[in-house]
Amino acid sequence: MKCLVCHKEFVVGDWICEDNVSNHVVPEKTYRALDAPAEPGRPAEGSLMPIVRGRTVVCNIPPSKKHMQDGEVRMIGEGSVEFINGRFSTSNPELQYWLDKKPGYNATEEQWKNCWLSKDELLEEKRLELVAMTQRLENERNELLSQTKKRVNA
Ligand SMILES: [Zn+2]
Repeated sequence: MKCLVCHKEFVVGDWICEDNVSNHVVPEKTYRALDAPAEPGRPAEGSLMPIVRGRTVVCNIPPSKKHMQDGEVRMIGEGSVEFINGRFSTSNPELQYWLDKKPGYNATEEQWKNCWLSKDELLEEKRLELVAMTQRLENERNELLSQTKKRVNA
């Protein structure tokens, strides 16, 4: 792994960046969980994101580390992350490392949508995709037309 801040190559466990305080930074990664609340906790169909429907705190990310203090071993630094609507994004390589190891937080965007979006929202998504696709086709056609015109005029 390579840090985006100090540009140093680093290995698992070697998380601390050049300031000796914060962790290295890597490209952001999004984690998705499929633990959407079931009806009737879900709001009425048609209410659109972003509405917070679910918050899940995942403990032990990162797990605690052994630390010597006054000749005693103490466990410190256990962290947790919060998934909102089944999503959590981070560019912290230590959090990514532990989340990668945990099952259940690596759902695809498609799986996440099917779990978290209402039927209306899924339809709205499809509609927006179609609108975008139509627009792209139209742009391509106009582009072709103007190319043809240029060729004719040349
Ligand atoms: Zn760094």
